[in-house]
Amino acid sequence: MTRGTVYGGELATVAEPTSMLLPGHDVPLGRYTTVRRLLPQRTRRMVGAWCFVDQFGPEDVAGRPGMRVPPHPHMGLQTVTWLVDGEILHRDSLGSVQTILPGQVNLMTSGHGIAHSEESPPEHPPLMHGLQLWIALPDSARHCAPGFHHYPTVPVVEADGLKATVVAGSFLGVTSPVTVYTPLVGADIRITRSEGARLELEATFEYAALVLSGAATIDDTALEPGSLLYLPPGRTSLPVTGHPGTRLFLLGGEPFDEPLVMWWNFVGRSHEEIAEAREDWETGRRFGTVTGYPGDPLPAPAMPMVRLKARDRHGRTFPA
Ligand code: MN
Repeated sequence: MTRGTVYGGELATVAEPTSMLLPGHDVPLGRYTTVRRLLPQRTRRMVGAWCFVDQFGPEDVAGRPGMRVPPHPHMGLQTVTWLVDGEILHRDSLGSVQTILPGQVNLMTSGHGIAHSEESPPEHPPLMHGLQLWIALPDSARHCAPGFHHYPTVPVVEADGLKATVVAGSFLGVTSPVTVYTPLVGADIRITRSEGARLELEATFEYAALVLSGAATIDDTALEPGSLLYLPPGRTSLPVTGHPGTRLFLLGGEPFDEPLVMWWNFVGRSHEEIAEAREDWETGRRFGTVTGYPGDPLPAPAMPMVRLKARDRHGRTFPA
């Protein structure tokens, strides 16, 4: 596939698509935790249908509360929880109560509306480290009934120089059982030899990589924990080097064409939809009740004074 880049109004063909290093920023989450937000960013809202990536930890939570995220609603998305270290207890308004450990996947499909909480159990391992990811649901799936599914294992595939756990979608011919609604991939990749590896990619997908532990060089760019390296479509392979044991997370998918309104914990298509979801949460409609969480639900923030606009994956607003 030939990619074009516009320079001064002229279309110039570039041989290799350019990558973009996007530093994350720290965001407080609840009272006790700070997370590193890697997506969305101002200039890069999405990677495929992935629309939100928080990395939490590695954090020493020995003798401390750890994660305390009170009940809050979601709409129009799926949440994927992936742990490197630690243990998190999920509760939701369907009555699910599920502990997740490293190597397992918690998938919550909000559809029209669900509420959940996440907490470190009273007795928890000393270290907490993982990713909280959101996948935007396409218009055809976003009004579906809410659901929650725990996957005790997901497939692992080995290739030259790497060992990958396929969290979602397909990678190296192996498909995760995690239900998704658009072509995408999420894979935890461990480098297994010092010469590194070459990742096989889909030319139609855009990708982003982050480092979970260690440090890697991806396509000549040094990448450390805390930043996201964005890679536009057009590649079929990607060279990765790093010390054996270095762990990356690779996100990818077909570029998501629907402009979205993302506000608080909601993904919608218009200001009105978001305002209605907020009102429903504040008045106890639609999202149900999470029982058992030791604390009050999160109140919604006030709506902004200006109308919310839909944005596409590049950050462009609709209507402009
Ligand atoms: Mn949530």
